[in-house]
Amino acid sequence: MKLFRNILSLLLFIALFFSCKNEESLKNVSEVSVSNTTLERVEPPHWWIGFENNTLQLLVKDDNIGVSKPSINYRGLTIDKFHTARSKNYLFIDITIDETAKAGKFDITFTFDDNSKKTHTYELKNREKSAESYKGFDSSDAIYLITPDRFANADESNDINKKLKDQSLDRTDGYKRHGGDLQGITNHVDYISDLGFTAVWPTPVLTNNMPRGSYHGYAITDYYQVDPRFGTMEDYKKLADELRKKDMKLIMDQVANHCGLEHWWMKDLPFDDWVNDQEYYEKNKENWNQKIVNRSNHRRTTNQDLYASDADKKGNNEGWFVETMPDLNQRNPFLANYIIQNSIWWIETLGLGGIRQDTYPYPDKEFMSNWAGAIMKEYPNFSIVGEEWSYNPLLVGYWQTGAKNKDGYESNLKSTMDFPMQKAIIDGINEDEYWGTGLVKIYEGLANDFHYSTPKDIMVFLDNHDEGRMFTALNEDVTKAKMALSYMLMMPRIPQVYYGTEILMDDTANHGDHGLIRTDFPGGWNGDQVNAFTGAGLSKDKKEMQNFVKSILNYRKNSAAIQGGKTIHFAPFMGTYFLFRVKGDETVVHIINKNEKPITIDLKRYAEVGLEGKTLKNIITGEAFLWKDAIQLSEKGSIILTTKH
Ligand code: CA
Repeated sequence: MKLFRNILSLLLFIALFFSCKNEESLKNVSEVSVSNTTLERVEPPHWWIGFENNTLQLLVKDDNIGVSKPSINYRGLTIDKFHTARSKNYLFIDITIDETAKAGKFDITFTFDDNSKKTHTYELKNREKSAESYKGFDSSDAIYLITPDRFANADESNDINKKLKDQSLDRTDGYKRHGGDLQGITNHVDYISDLGFTAVWPTPVLTNNMPRGSYHGYAITDYYQVDPRFGTMEDYKKLADELRKKDMKLIMDQVANHCGLEHWWMKDLPFDDWVNDQEYYEKNKENWNQKIVNRSNHRRTTNQDLYASDADKKGNNEGWFVETMPDLNQRNPFLANYIIQNSIWWIETLGLGGIRQDTYPYPDKEFMSNWAGAIMKEYPNFSIVGEEWSYNPLLVGYWQTGAKNKDGYESNLKSTMDFPMQKAIIDGINEDEYWGTGLVKIYEGLANDFHYSTPKDIMVFLDNHDEGRMFTALNEDVTKAKMALSYMLMMPRIPQVYYGTEILMDDTANHGDHGLIRTDFPGGWNGDQVNAFTGAGLSKDKKEMQNFVKSILNYRKNSAAIQGGKTIHFAPFMGTYFLFRVKGDETVVHIINKNEKPITIDLKRYAEVGLEGKTLKNIITGEAFLWKDAIQLSEKGSIILTTKH
C-alpha cells in the first residue's frame, strides 16, 4: 500500500511537472511571437480589428511562396485578391476584415501546384484603446529630443551584438556606437519629467544592420524590429508605459523616404520599382561604388516651384539621400501600403503620442499626403510632425494641413518644424542692434506667422540632432542661451529641446559635427565623472541652466496663456523686445534686454495689454514687480513675469 502511494505521488509529481513545463513553453511562444510560422516573413506580423479602413495587405516572403495560392477560413475574413511579384519569393495578400470578425488566431494556408501546403498562424487582436484616445502632442507639450545611443547606457550586455554587422563600440569616437539604450531612457523618465517635459522623441531605434555609422538609426534595415543594441520590443513598450504613467507622450521617429542599404529586401527586391534607380542599383550592386550613385540633388523647392524642371523634381524626389540609403519608391502601391500599415502598427503597439517623419520633402508628396491622411483617419486626435529643413517659411507653411496652396496640395500634416525661427532666434540674439539686425530678426520672424495655417502647431527648437548645439551657436554665452531658450518656450508653438541643452552641452570643438552634436549625456554611463541626472560635478552655470529650464517648463505646464493664449509683441525698442501671452486673467510677459548698462523703459508703450497697476511675479526669482510707469532693466538678459501668483 505504501509503495502504491509512493508510485502515485511520483506519477502526480511527473504530471504536474510536465503541465507546468507546457504552460511555461506556451507562455514563451505567446511572448516571442504570435505565430508558429516556418515562413521567412509575414508583415505586418499581426493586426487588429476595428479600424476605419477594414482592409489589410500582407507581405509574405518565403522561398517560392509566389507560386502558391493562399486561403483563409475564418469568420469575417475574405481574401479579395492576391498578387504575385517579380520575385517568386513574395506574395501580397489583400484581406477584408468585416464587422463580424472577432479577435483570434487563424491559419493562412498556402497551397502549391503539387498540392503540398504551408501554413502560417496569423493573429487579429482587439484594440486596447479607443481611436480618439490616441492624443498627439500639441502646444501644451514640451518635447525632449534624445539620441538614444548617446543618452544613457543601462545595459552593457547589449552594447555589442555578434549577429549584427557593426560591432564598433568606442565612446571616444563620435561616429561609433556608445551603448546607450531604451532602458537608459526609461531609467531617467523621472529626470525628464521633473524638468517639466511632457513628451519624449527618441531618434529611430529600429534595427540598422549597417556595417558602420549605425548608431543614428536613420538607415533602417527592418521596419518591425527594435535594434537589439537598443533593447527589445518589450523595452520599447516599457518606455511607452513608463511615460504614460507620468502622463507623458512617446513620439516615434519614422523614415518613409529611405531604408538602409542592408535592408533585408535589398537582396531580393519584390518588384522592378521598389526603390528608385533600381535598375542601376541591381546592375552595380556587387561593386556598389559610392561615387557613382544617383544622389538626391536636395533641391527641395522643386516640390513648390512653379518653374521647376522635371529633371530637378526627379533629382530631388528620386535620388538617393546618400549612397547607403536606398530611396524607396512610394509610387509602388505595395510599398505605399507597407509603409502606411507599418506606421499604424507602431502607433497601436506602443500607444504612441505622435510621429516625427524624417526628410519630409524627399518622398513622393502625394504619397506623404495619403500616408498622413490614412493615419489621421484612424487616429483623429493624433499628431505628426514632418521635417522640412528650410529657413524659408513659405516652404514650411506649404506642408502644414490647411495651407492655402496654389497647387491645391493638402498634406494632412498637423505639424511642421520651425527652422526659420530657430535661425531667427540665434541670429537675433547674436547680432548687434541696428535697423535691420538683432532683435528685429526675431520680431519679423514671428510676424511671418500670418502665413501659417496654425502657427501653434509648428514645432520650434534651438538645436537638434543635426543642427549645431545652440550654446556654441551663441558663443558659449550663458546669458544669451537663457534669452534664446526662454523666448522659445514662450512662443505660440510646440517647443522641442535637444537632450543636454538644459546643461549647456556644446559642440564648440567642431561646430556642426554630427558626432560631436550627439555627445554622451554625462551620468548616463557607469563611471562618468559628472552626473547631470543627480547634479554631481556639474558646473554652477550648468546647474543654473538646468534649474532655469525646470522653472520655465514647470510653469509652462500649467499656463493656459503660454499653451494657447493670444500673442502680442512690440517692435524692438532701445535694445529690448517685449512679448506678451494672454489668456483670461493670466498674462505672461517675456522681456529680452540686450543693454549692458542699466536702462529704464517707459511702460506707457505697452498700455494696450492692460497691466497697469498689477503686481506680477518673476517666474524664475519669485520676486514681485508692480507694473506701473516704468521698468528698470539693470542687466543684459531675459525676464519672465506673470500675473498668476
Ligand atoms: Ca547598452
